[in-house]
Amino acid sequence: MRLHEYQAKNLFKSYGIPVPDGIVAQTAEDAVAAAQSLGLPVAIKAQVHTGGRGKAGGVAVVAEAAQVGPEAQKILALTIGGFRVRQVLVTRAVSIKKELYLSLLIDRNARKTVFIGCAEGGVEIETIAKESPDKILRCDVSVWQLSDLPGQLADEFAQKLCSNGNHAAEAADIMVHMGKLFAETDASLIEINPLAVDDTGSLVAVDAKMVLDDNALFRHPDLLGLREDYLDDPDELDTRRAGLNFVRLEGTIGCVVNGAGLAMATMDAIQRFGGAPANFLDVGGGAGGKKVLTAFKAILKDPRVKVILVNIFGGITRCDEVAQGILEALDQSNVTLPVVVRLTGTNEAEGRALLEGAGLMSAKTMEEAVARAVEMGGSA
Ligand code: GDP
Ligand code: MN
Repeated sequence: MRLHEYQAKNLFKSYGIPVPDGIVAQTAEDAVAAAQSLGLPVAIKAQVHTGGRGKAGGVAVVAEAAQVGPEAQKILALTIGGFRVRQVLVTRAVSIKKELYLSLLIDRNARKTVFIGCAEGGVEIETIAKESPDKILRCDVSVWQLSDLPGQLADEFAQKLCSNGNHAAEAADIMVHMGKLFAETDASLIEINPLAVDDTGSLVAVDAKMVLDDNALFRHPDLLGLREDYLDDPDELDTRRAGLNFVRLEGTIGCVVNGAGLAMATMDAIQRFGGAPANFLDVGGGAGGKKVLTAFKAILKDPRVKVILVNIFGGITRCDEVAQGILEALDQSNVTLPVVVRLTGTNEAEGRALLEGAGLMSAKTMEEAVARAVEMGGSA
């Protein structure tokens, strides 16, 4: 789960990582009020789950009171990287003397967490890594050391990152807090870019990015509340709430598949047979009737869909249960579109029998099912 900048900054603040004061606003009027209480100049920043907001016009530093409203209005009207801007963070603007880069992330190959630093922050770190990799500093840290980072380790790294001794001491302090925050929230990434030196010579996190491990969220009910379901596609939202993984695509073949791997393979097969999937959908394990019904409903709302392809491998999921789900879904949703089903695995015979009893044909192999779906008006 990716956090918004303002959410990450709230966590930073509670862990002792310095951030400029800020207030979130959903309207230009609220932004004006926020700027009044914070004092000018302010930075107005789009809160969207994508980077490069600065380049996209999603960040404005404003010194004049009269400009706050119009600038906020402008940013609130933007769509950045496919994300509509619904709120802005208004922060006290930092007078930036120097921009550094500092992050903490998981290096799966090293099986460790690693601090990445660069004395040239602000810009995309990937670009520096490509053009002058020698400028990228790294420091591997064992996971068990994170919550109580050894001072010496932080000091050594910070001294390489900052030529100024005071800055280095502050950076080391920030690293210790980052380690604790990372460990205690089960994060997979904390990135500060830029970590700025301000005009008083102090370090402050001007930007904040955090990604939390979805698989550990059950341990953090408080953080789960930070999830903002601002998906622009309401069907994606409905299906997600139902525990399905649904992503709308451009094609004409609606897909109901269990397992992300099989769903990917199904997309590939459709393409290979000359068709185009209308969606990616993983109904997950134990796909009972309710999930299948939610899936059908989401797919049927898309007028582009000409045929529905169900591809189920029954492992834990029982084919007869899925078949029952399909029949219920058809019953409740007035499907007039052709439905092609391929069921295999646990209770396959029972599943097939149920479908056949209702006059639905089921294919024996995935190829057969995909070929038939493409044939029935699913070609790209
Ligand atoms: P990003 O483009 O999504 O990474 O958003 P950032 O928060 O990193 O902002 C982009 C750039 O805007 C930064 O690298 C800064 O140069 C500038 N910026 C953001 N906030 C401030 C601020 O408070 N003061 C000043 N002077 N510049 C800022
Ligand atoms: Mn940034």
